[in-house]
Amino acid sequence: MQVIIFGAPGVGKGTQAKILASKLGIAHISTGDILREAIKNGTVTGLKAKAIVESGGLVPDEIMGGIIKDALKEGKYQNGSILDGFPRTKAQALILDQIFAELSVNKPVLIKIDADDKIIIDRISNRLVCNSCGNILVKNDVSENFVCPVCNSKNSYIKRKDDAEEVIKRRLELYHEMTAPVFEHYKDKAKIIEVDGTEAIGTVTRNILRQI
Ligand code: AMP
Repeated sequence: MQVIIFGAPGVGKGTQAKILASKLGIAHISTGDILREAIKNGTVTGLKAKAIVESGGLVPDEIMGGIIKDALKEGKYQNGSILDGFPRTKAQALILDQIFAELSVNKPVLIKIDADDKIIIDRISNRLVCNSCGNILVKNDVSENFVCPVCNSKNSYIKRKDDAEEVIKRRLELYHEMTAPVFEHYKDKAKIIEVDGTEAIGTVTRNILRQI
């Protein structure tokens, strides 16, 4: 099964994608995670992407197309995957159409998670991410000398640079301008599932699985 998880930054795509990937036995491909890893390792892509990601911009479509082609064509994703953070522009949706045609993907599933910008800004302002494994927690749950419950790293929870309030606002603006219109592209190409992202994590997952 090929799934695209769609929605604004901070709406819970990453959290749901991880849970669904494990429940459905498919791979989780997060373009944001791939870029953060490239930036951490100082690769050529990382060096090109660093300033753009940190200021909340969109990395050019050619770079993103290359990343997603490499990821999807690796054999381990043949069982299917859940794409988190891609496509974010119309040009990326066209690149994905081509890859899906080559992989004989008939009808992908598109899960759209909705929430108001105000709720998203509150949520992102309060989240911390594990620098080592990418797990996300709420600020209040992270104490001094905290050990990550997922990867056991110590004191590894940080605020993402692009989670600063002015950067979140830019990311949301770009979402409304460039990404939200991409939904139209899938209206008759994908099986569409829409859920309310303001519900509790478990409820959102159940609502998605019921419709799948
Ligand atoms: P995310 O973790 O999905 O919120 O992505 C973090 C940042 O990585 C975004 O704000 C963009 O700067 C960049 N990024 C991730 N995916 C894409 C994409 N498909 N196209 C362009 N930029 C992206």
